[in-house]
Amino acid sequence: MLKNKTAVVTGSTSGIGLGIARALAQAGANVMLNGFGDAAVIEKLRGELAASTGVRVLYHPADVTKPEEVAALIAAAESACGSVDILVNNAGIQFVSPVEDFPVDRWLAIQAVILNSSFYAIRVALPGMKRRNWGRIINLASAHGLVASPFKSAYVAAKHGQVGLTKSVALEVAETGITCNAICPGYVLTPLVEGQIESQTKAHQLPRARVIKEVILAAQPSKRFVEITEVAALAVFLCGETARSITGAAIPIDGGWTAR
Ligand code: NAD
Repeated sequence: MLKNKTAVVTGSTSGIGLGIARALAQAGANVMLNGFGDAAVIEKLRGELAASTGVRVLYHPADVTKPEEVAALIAAAESACGSVDILVNNAGIQFVSPVEDFPVDRWLAIQAVILNSSFYAIRVALPGMKRRNWGRIINLASAHGLVASPFKSAYVAAKHGQVGLTKSVALEVAETGITCNAICPGYVLTPLVEGQIESQTKAHQLPRARVIKEVILAAQPSKRFVEITEVAALAVFLCGETARSITGAAIPIDGGWTAR
């Protein structure tokens, strides 16, 4: 389905990004991986994904908070594979604190990794997509791009910002073959959420199972985590031809969270 397309997925050494990279490769796209982690582990991942799918799988270590490194990431994919047709802005971090105690450096880091990085990547990937009159931009936002929770001011602000960016870009390219959408997952069990389970288990002095159900999934009516493969399948669908009229959308995949 995505044969001869090339995808860049930021933050794809782990969690949702890795799941999306896997699904795009299985759908036939060449994939540029990106993110932090142990070099040997990443190289093993890269090799396994290439061997199991038969597509080109590359890796670039860009820190997405640095515009020049993001430009190098997009340029590396373009020069190795000829184009960047699919851009998934997925890299993300979290920090939880009452707003008056929120460390300024954590606030800035969250905006940089989630919001600024999406702008840096879109601005360099878009000219090539326009030349080819085809492109798919997916910003991995969150249910927190649509509604808020207390103590997550930086994350909620960055995710709402990402949804706003999605809408503006979609309008700018609406008459082309390029779409820009945000995927808004509820809780997905990844290393990012494991960190929250650990800190909440300590804070509430409760067993892990109760923390998951009563604290973490309190806002998620399904009371189960969204699966990485479910988010990845939605991303692949958005990359298909039948999704060409879906643009500027912020699509919840959240077990009913934002239906409240
Ligand atoms: P994760 O921690 O498993 O993965 C995050 C990825 O981002 C990693 O590959 C990490 O190396 C990379 N990364 C972090 N800082 C980076 C930087 N400066 N430069 C390059 N890469 C960087 O997290 P995840 O849960 O898979 O989250 C992926 C995205 O999905 C994030 O944007 C997150 O906000 C969003 N999201 C997650 C959930 C959830 O419940 N897990 C829910 C909604 C949205």
